[in-house]
Amino acid sequence: MTAVAKARACASATTSSTVTSRAGARRARMSAPRGHGARGARRASASASAAASGERVTIANDPGKEDIVVTEETRFEAVIGIETHVQLNSKTKAFCRCAYEYGVEPNTRVCPVCMGHPGTLPVLNSAVVKKGIMIGTALGTKIRRSSKFDRKQYFYPDLPKGYQISQFEEPLCHDGSIDVVLPVEDGGEVKRVGITRAHLEEDAGKLTHAKGEDGKKYSYADYNRAGVALLEIVTEPDLRTGREVAAYGAELRRIVRFLDACDGDMSKGSMRNDVNVSIRPVGRETFGTKVEVKNMNSFNAMARAIDYEIARQEELIRSGRGDEIVQETRTWDEGAQKTVTMRKKEGLADYRYFPEPDLPRMNLSKKFISDVVASMPELPSAIRARYASLGLPQADVQVLVEDKELVSYFDRALDSPAKPSAKQVANWLTGDIMAHLKNAKLDISQLPLGAEDLGEFCAMIDSGEISGKIGKDLLPELLQRGGSAKKLVADRGLSQISDPAEIEALVDGVLDANPGQLEQYRAGKTKLKGSSSAPVSRRAAVAPIPPSWTRSSSQSSITRPLRESRLCLVACNP
Ligand SMILES: [Zn+2]
Repeated sequence: MTAVAKARACASATTSSTVTSRAGARRARMSAPRGHGARGARRASASASAAASGERVTIANDPGKEDIVVTEETRFEAVIGIETHVQLNSKTKAFCRCAYEYGVEPNTRVCPVCMGHPGTLPVLNSAVVKKGIMIGTALGTKIRRSSKFDRKQYFYPDLPKGYQISQFEEPLCHDGSIDVVLPVEDGGEVKRVGITRAHLEEDAGKLTHAKGEDGKKYSYADYNRAGVALLEIVTEPDLRTGREVAAYGAELRRIVRFLDACDGDMSKGSMRNDVNVSIRPVGRETFGTKVEVKNMNSFNAMARAIDYEIARQEELIRSGRGDEIVQETRTWDEGAQKTVTMRKKEGLADYRYFPEPDLPRMNLSKKFISDVVASMPELPSAIRARYASLGLPQADVQVLVEDKELVSYFDRALDSPAKPSAKQVANWLTGDIMAHLKNAKLDISQLPLGAEDLGEFCAMIDSGEISGKIGKDLLPELLQRGGSAKKLVADRGLSQISDPAEIEALVDGVLDANPGQLEQYRAGKTKLKGSSSAPVSRRAAVAPIPPSWTRSSSQSSITRPLRESRLCLVACNP
């Protein structure tokens, strides 16, 4: 089985069924005739000797330099940590007054400071610090009241200054954790992910490699991004699968979006995840060489890339080629659905960090920090808890809390004067309305139906004023044009009749029009078929009465007893 097939075939590298199926695949490979190519034969014999005889093999570059025994039964688990670069959406860059706007003419948002011209000095943007404190607080980290900036040196054409201002030894934020709720389809469990640190730094420019008009290859440098503020967030190696990595990334994006600190748009590079992956036999403390995987532009791609990388490393170790796992950066090739070597990783010493001489220490008063914290909006985790306390199902809560605008719309609908029930609003919003938005490719903010009007609509269904069925009939027009559901109901004459006398008259009309069925009922046949109740149901029932005159759970709570007692009355007293 190829590594790609394995990555697709299994969500987890630790299930015993996975190992069994792999063992089967390996046996098949080992028994294949030798004429299948020298490379395949070498791999087959290596895996035969390593796995079948229980020989010691090296978990590449294991810190203990200790070989371990890998057998068919050995199960592996991945150890994964993530470094995320979050681009802070302050109006200006981190240390100069250049604006940062994505997609504008290259090299038009640059100045002598961010280009590192001699004689210029950086000045720290306080908005950047505030956004950093907010994200750090949301991640449960401690905020350092006194920290410093450092220079990280490296030479690359995207770095005009030849160094990057970063925080090395004293990050603004350190030691926190967040609880990540896995998607309902993955079990909906809560996974705690430790946050090692989050530090401020500046972004580099962007290189584009393309052919010029003369047909030759060029690298185009755009320095608009150079100097834009970043918060680099580093997790503990707490994650185990691609799905968990994707769920963490999605929660982090929700947090920065709810805080209005970053647009979280991975396709624009506003949020870039570098994932460190290594594997170890289950139960072992130390783990092997970390491989960095980057350039995944969706959470889905992240999950696939990580699962591929886990399977690749496992296959190498099992076939006795663990030493081929080297410290390197691999890029995710979306087209080929595999990770490929990008460059060998540089060690820390290569950056020659030293304290940034052009910036003083960053000393933050207690009040500055507490004011920033007090200005923070409600976070996704708090909103989830609030919605759960309203009795909403977890699946609805996850859909609602996916989007800040959706949360705002839902809250406004709940607070509307009509006071609808939370369940009714969540039901319509996460069901029919979300489906409509998806089909029409609209954001909730573009929906003509206002939150208050949705509140009124839902309250009318709560009170039985209109049936759910009529609600479904009305919704398309409300979604297209907006406006009051009450007015629409009045215009169409659809309001439900609650006056018993009026309903009795309607029922009598139906009975009079169907003497044959009435006779059958009198004769003891209570389960009568027919659609003759439709005239009653159209105006008097919550749902159309099904083609039966007998009890049905979908019939109106108002009309059913009335209709049946009326029927019984007429039938018993001819
Ligand atoms: Zn500038």
